[in-house]
Amino acid sequence: MPLKVYNSLSKKKEVFVPINSPHVGMYVCGPTVSGESHLGHARPYITFDVVYRYLKYLGYHVRYVRNITDAGHFEEEGREAEDKISKKALLEKVEPMELVQKYTNLFHWAFKQLNTLDPDIEPTATGHIVEQIGMIEKLLEAGYAYEVNGSVYFDVKKYAFSHNYGELSGRKIDDLLETTRELEGQDEKRNKADFALWKSAPPKHIMRWKSPWGEGFPGWHIECSAMATKYLGPRFDIHGGGMDLMFPHHESEIAQSTICNHASPAKYWMHNNMITINGKKMGKSYNNVIKLTEMFSGNHPLLTQAFSPMTIRFFILQTHYRSTLDFSSEALIAAEKGLKRLWEAYEILKKWPVTGDHLAKDIELDEKINTLIKEFDEFINDDFNTAKVLANIFEIVPIINSLKDGLIDPEAISANTVRQMKESFSIYIEQILGLKNSAESSEQFNGIIELLVEIRKEAKTKKDFFTSDKIRKQLAVLGIEMKDEKDGKITWSRM
Ligand code: ZN
Repeated sequence: MPLKVYNSLSKKKEVFVPINSPHVGMYVCGPTVSGESHLGHARPYITFDVVYRYLKYLGYHVRYVRNITDAGHFEEEGREAEDKISKKALLEKVEPMELVQKYTNLFHWAFKQLNTLDPDIEPTATGHIVEQIGMIEKLLEAGYAYEVNGSVYFDVKKYAFSHNYGELSGRKIDDLLETTRELEGQDEKRNKADFALWKSAPPKHIMRWKSPWGEGFPGWHIECSAMATKYLGPRFDIHGGGMDLMFPHHESEIAQSTICNHASPAKYWMHNNMITINGKKMGKSYNNVIKLTEMFSGNHPLLTQAFSPMTIRFFILQTHYRSTLDFSSEALIAAEKGLKRLWEAYEILKKWPVTGDHLAKDIELDEKINTLIKEFDEFINDDFNTAKVLANIFEIVPIINSLKDGLIDPEAISANTVRQMKESFSIYIEQILGLKNSAESSEQFNGIIELLVEIRKEAKTKKDFFTSDKIRKQLAVLGIEMKDEKDGKITWSRM
């Protein structure tokens, strides 16, 4: 059963055949670290985390590259937005790189909580200015770029003569070329559709680098092209990102790389759909941007409670990545309940004794379970349909509960099927979907601390102050404070 991937370029599902099997190169556009990660970031990085996990599970040697956009960039279509990082640095009175580090650290922290695996290479745009300048020089030499007042632009019209600019996003070149010169920053461009490869830095611009065209900073699209080429070569397997990046970002990446490297960069383009909040598009103007730290704490007017990172991950995976996904407190509460039921059933299944080779007494039920399990592979191979995998898992959950409650004879299912269930649940839930039972680990953690409290109490009673002090001091190093209350009780808290 081959893996099929929906390719945004061909607009159909294609059998996944790596260019250089067993090696797979995957590039995902990373975060702009000019602020804290929000809910909108959770979807692409969780989606491509599952892609990465599954390809590794299949045995591929995956090189997953996800960049950090730290050079400030152009965000609005056809318009140069201000450099968000410099602006914020001025506002917060810090070095721009200090800000970049702060938000990079926060990004790493939040996605650790969401249990995404680290990429193999995480290049920064500011660390690859030389490569970007190199690519721009190639584009100038090839005649597909032009310089005006220290800025360099990509000539989309010229490119479109011999190539299909719009092949990914479906935009029509004639519509894009319609010039409306009133737009800000248009005066230097030959055509409205042209995009900046390098921008001359105005005197107040903080983040700036020397280039053959004077001091300036790179355009956003060239950053990704340069880093992808450097670490994955001129042609690699998967390029991923949110649907909102398809145009102009990815469309322009294709144009730049095609000219520079004489090859279309990625074989498969994958895009996740967007997140809406209570039916509305997420955006500053709607006042509904929820940061991940706010999700974890519940500290946001649109949230009725805190949600654990695993609830968020589970909620996202319950919908296929190419479908829209609407967030609401109610929907998340439902997901939280569902996840709890899943962990309870999974714990029962893990501990369920299985010995010998007894056959199924209830052949129909046994077959039903086997079919549901077989379909896990079928669904994940069908363009990573995590939603359908989870739906099947939830058909098995009540069977596990009935076994526990004695409503189903333990011998109804064959020993082999029970083994199969144990194995598939472990592979799919933990390895591929990347869900982990945080309630279980915090329960274990609390249990361990309570045990240490007990040991310390005993040590104090025996006047073994060496041991009681050692426990207190060592826990303090780990950020746990033990307090001796007046009534002889020992309490603990995180410092
Ligand atoms: Zn990118």
